[in-house]
Amino acid sequence: MSGNPESDPFASLRHAMVEQQLRVRGIRDERVLAAMERVPRHEFVSAYNNEAAYEDHPIEIGQQQTISQPFMVAAMAEAAQIKPADVVLEVGTGSGYQAAVLAELAAEVFTIERFASLAETAQKLLAHLNYANIVVALGDGSNGLPQYAPYDAIVVAAAAPEIPPALVDQLREGGRLVIPIGSAQEQELFLLRKQNGTPATQKLFGCKFVPLVGRYGFHPAT
Ligand code: SAM
Repeated sequence: MSGNPESDPFASLRHAMVEQQLRVRGIRDERVLAAMERVPRHEFVSAYNNEAAYEDHPIEIGQQQTISQPFMVAAMAEAAQIKPADVVLEVGTGSGYQAAVLAELAAEVFTIERFASLAETAQKLLAHLNYANIVVALGDGSNGLPQYAPYDAIVVAAAAPEIPPALVDQLREGGRLVIPIGSAQEQELFLLRKQNGTPATQKLFGCKFVPLVGRYGFHPAT
């Protein structure tokens, strides 16, 4: 899906990112590690930040939003336990990077963003990179994306005060929801699994995300 690694001058930076930021911190899923090694993260930031794209921190992408830290993208993808036939929803498209990583792991990815400018830029870039299994939607993803539900996994890349019930409703039986829950300043990453129609939740680790804005976010979208 992504370009030929041999012609990619960023391949060595990407390899170092995988080894020094992901593997040593406990990311074990080889499919996730391979996806992180394939997706050209530098394409999802401004040209000024091309090399910084592989550093161990989030980067601004406009509209006061960020592309998440590489470790966080990998940890969320691993927690979501995505299988090749899965249909996945991502809430918070941002740059489109995490959608590309998820698309390397799943059959189909639907991703929803509230800012039209970010959704449009991500959609064009993902098409340019030949990701034919990603649909970018515009709207309040705290309501999920009911028209394509149910999902095997839902990954929310923005912090919510509580688990949005619409997202649980749109999970398939056995489905996983990965979401940062807490205050607008700091959160814990939660993994929810729907079993026999009942959600079972587990706290994974502390994190800091930009807020989810919308019906089930911190405040309504303006
Ligand atoms: N996954 C992104 C990437 O790979 O670049 C990073 C996501 S950024 C940390 C969070 C994104 O969630 C922002 O782009 C923000 O606009 C978006 N967002 C916040 N609330 C939202 C909502 N209710 N629906 C859809 N997107 C939302």
